[in-house]
Order: sequence, then C-alpha cells, then structure tokens
Amino acid sequence: MATVTPDQEKNPWLAAEARFNIAAEKLGLDEGIRKVLGNPTRELTVNIPVQLDDGRIELFTGYRVQHSVARGPGKGGIRYAPDVSLDEVRALASWMTWKCAVVNIPFGGAKGGVICNPAMLSDGELERITRRYTAEIMDIIGPDRDVPAPDVNTNDRVMAWIMDTYSMHVRHATTAVVTGKPMELGGSRGRTEATGRGCMIVTLEALKKFGLRPEDTRVVIQGFGNVGGMAARLMAARGFRIVSIVEYNGALYNEAGIDIQGLMDHRKETGSIVNFAGAENVDKNEALFRECDVLIPAATENVITSANANRLRCKILCEGANGPTTPLADEILAKNKVFVIPDILANAGGVTVSYFEWVQDRQGFFWNEELVNTRLEDIMVGSFNAVTAYGEKHNVDNRTAAYMLALDRVASAMKLRGIYA
Ligand code: GLU
Repeated sequence: MATVTPDQEKNPWLAAEARFNIAAEKLGLDEGIRKVLGNPTRELTVNIPVQLDDGRIELFTGYRVQHSVARGPGKGGIRYAPDVSLDEVRALASWMTWKCAVVNIPFGGAKGGVICNPAMLSDGELERITRRYTAEIMDIIGPDRDVPAPDVNTNDRVMAWIMDTYSMHVRHATTAVVTGKPMELGGSRGRTEATGRGCMIVTLEALKKFGLRPEDTRVVIQGFGNVGGMAARLMAARGFRIVSIVEYNGALYNEAGIDIQGLMDHRKETGSIVNFAGAENVDKNEALFRECDVLIPAATENVITSANANRLRCKILCEGANGPTTPLADEILAKNKVFVIPDILANAGGVTVSYFEWVQDRQGFFWNEELVNTRLEDIMVGSFNAVTAYGEKHNVDNRTAAYMLALDRVASAMKLRGIYA
C-alpha cells in the first residue's frame, strides 16, 4: 500500500518514493517495472581532493545519480550546498526522470551534488572543485550519456568549467555535454529565464480556470534567485501584482505590487532585499501565509509541510522549486482545494530550454529568442493541459496525474526496449 508518513517530511527520497508508489498503484504498474523505476539505475560517489588557497588540501564529497536512462541520456542539474546528501540527490534525479517525461522531451533523469559551502569558497577554489568533480564523473557523463546543468548555487560560469574540463579530456570542444552555458560557449538564448518563464506560462493557464486576469492576481514568491527572481520579473512585466517576496533573511510586502526591477537594483547595491523603499519589511516566517491568489515557492525542499499547509491562503500553488511540498501536506492542500501545479510540471521550463540548448549544440545552429520562447510556450501549455485533463479523467489531483502520465511514458519506453540480459 502507498503510505504517507512523517519521515517523508525530512527525507526527500522518502517523499519521492511515496509519490511514486501512489502513482504506480493507481496505474497498476507491473511489479517488475515498479522495482526498476523505484530505484536509481546508477549512483556514483566521489571524494574530490582540492588544494585550498591557503595551501591546505581539503576533501569534498560529490555525487552523480542517474535515476533512469530509458528515454534518453540522463539530464539534471548539479547543486553545491553544505547539506547535500545522497538521498536528496537520488530524489532530485528521480524527479528529473518524471519531469522530462511530463514535458515529453527525450531524456532520462539524473542529478549531481557536491557537499560544500560556496559562500565560503573563493572563485579559484570553486573552479578547482568543479574541474576535479567533472574529472571524477567523466566516465558516466557525455552528450549521449548524461548531461548536467545548473541547479542551486551553480550557474553558467560553473557550466563553462565543466564544458572545458570535459573537452580537454576528450580532446575536442564538446558543448553538448552540459546545458545552461554562457551564450559564447553554445548556451541557448532564453535559458536563464526559462524556469521562471515556464512558471509564468503554467500560472497563466491555471488563471483561466479561476477566471482571473494577471492584473487582478496577487502573487507571493519565496526565493529571489534564478527561479523566483526571473518569475517575479517576467510576471510583473506581464501585469501580475507581485505583492510579496520572501527570502531566507527577510521578506517584503506591498499590496499594490513590488517594483521588481527596482528591487533587483536594490539587492545589487545592498546585497539583500530587505529595507527596500518600495515595500514594507515583514516577518519572513509569516509572509507565506498571507492571503494571495498565487504562491510560488521557489527556494528549497520541504517548505510546505503538515505543520503549516493548513495556513496557506492561496488559490494556486505553483511549485518553482523541486520538492517544496511534502506528501502529508498534499493531503491537506487537496482537502482545502488548493490548485497545485506540481514541481515536475511547474518548473520544467528550465530543462525544456536545456533540451533546446542540447539540440542547438548538436546541430551547431542557433535559434533566436522568439523561437525558443514560442517552443517553450507550446510545450508548457500542452503539458499543463495534458496533466489537468488526465487528472479530470482519472479523478486524481494534478500531482498524481503528472506522476501517472510520466510513469506511464517511462514504463512504456522500458517495455519496448525490454530487459537486456
Ligand atoms: N536544475 C534544473 C531542474 O531542476 C534544470 C535541469 C536541467 O536543465 O537539466 O529542473
């Protein structure tokens, strides 16, 4: 039986398993296939020796997990954080499998992580960690094997180092080994904004179900990084009222809507969002629970739990982050009729444009931004409609529908390929 337990509020892999089990049961998935897809296909742990600026040698631990490569090369970001764990990377890898299947792009799912604190490292140290980590996972990555990308605390500069390290080893420039690269190295137009743009596109679709216009829509966003910051900027430009931004060190509120470009300039000058003239400083622990139309958690896992899900006062929850909601919280949100756009759909814009980047690199032929954005919109709108229609047809919530759709696609690919022996 698929059970939902408190442990899943702490360990993302247990949360991932719970969602997988719910969908697998509803689909009546074959026991053997369930065993295979319920576990990652490959997990690599590497210890990375790095010389620090003061001459000492430090050892960092990194992971690359490939959950499934049934539908294509592994795909998924690399995160740098002090609390990265193998279970977290496993969960994130499996979410990439389902995410790529939901938007129907020809990739499997993978994820990487290095346990380190980028805030305490110099640029040189970060570069040496990245290059040695890349050398250690060389054997399992590649344009046809597994294609990393940015995630928490990694960016286009880190991707450039990965591309260079890999290219030096194989003795030729290999741009398609990573996505999210700088434009000068085969990056795609629109990639930086893609995850935030995808969140906006699916939110616009959800608004139709509520008869709301962007101008009448109050949005609260947690996180002001690549996902939250871009979603805020694009949605404000589209006319949404971004009433609150919530960060780890403070929160802002303005009923009339926050000037997002102004806030970005303020953060650039001061290093933080707090004390912005265009909004009121408010309690960061309470800001998520203000009345609003759309809440976008775009920071970390396990933000919405059984302890606080009852306090949410949004109509639509658009999951910009991976795994922001726990399985126990799902039950509460369903009871309270919150319209959830699950992470594996809501934040799939990033990997979708990563796919476009990979295609462009392999062709050596680059698209203009309009083409990228139009194709992204087609995929996001089509996937949103496929998920919601599936949910209505099978009488399940959006998350379960997204998982069922994804599992079915991956299982079909597996069955057609058969088990190689
Ligand atoms: N890290 C992003 C995600 O979680 C992007 C992954 C990719 O582009 O491969 O979806």
